[in-house]
Amino acid sequence: YKNPQHRGLPADFDAEVHHVNPTCGDEVTLRVKIADGAIADLGWDGEGCSISQASTSVMSELVTGKPVEHAIQLQGRFLELMQSRGEAELSESDEDELEDAVAFEGVSKYPARVKCALLGWMAMKSAVTEAQA
Ligand code: ZN
Repeated sequence: YKNPQHRGLPADFDAEVHHVNPTCGDEVTLRVKIADGAIADLGWDGEGCSISQASTSVMSELVTGKPVEHAIQLQGRFLELMQSRGEAELSESDEDELEDAVAFEGVSKYPARVKCALLGWMAMKSAVTEAQA
C-alpha cells in the first residue's frame, strides 16, 4: 500500500476504465495496452482504503506481461477466493499463481471489504475486454 506498483497512467493505451466502490469510497482509473495477446502495459491511479490500493498494486504486478487469457484466469480464481467467505482451500497452485494476492484471502471473511479487494481486478478485466473488442 505504501509502495504501489504500476501507479500512473500510461500515455499509450488501448482502453481506459473507471471503477468505483461506493460502499467504501474507493476509486480506480486503469489503462491497459495489449500487444500480441498479452498485457503489454497496465497503469492505474486511484484513491481509497489501503485494501483497494494494495490489491490493485499486487494485481498490476501480477498480470503485466502475462497473456490476456492467463490474466483473466487469475482474475476468475481471485474472484472465487474473495467470494468464499473465508472457506476457500488455498492450493499450492494458488500460491504459485496468485503470489502476493493470496494474502488477501483473509479479506473474504469480511463481506464489506471484499469489494475493496476486487476493485482493481474487476477494472482490469473490463479494460482488457474493452481493449480486445
Ligand atoms: Zn475500500
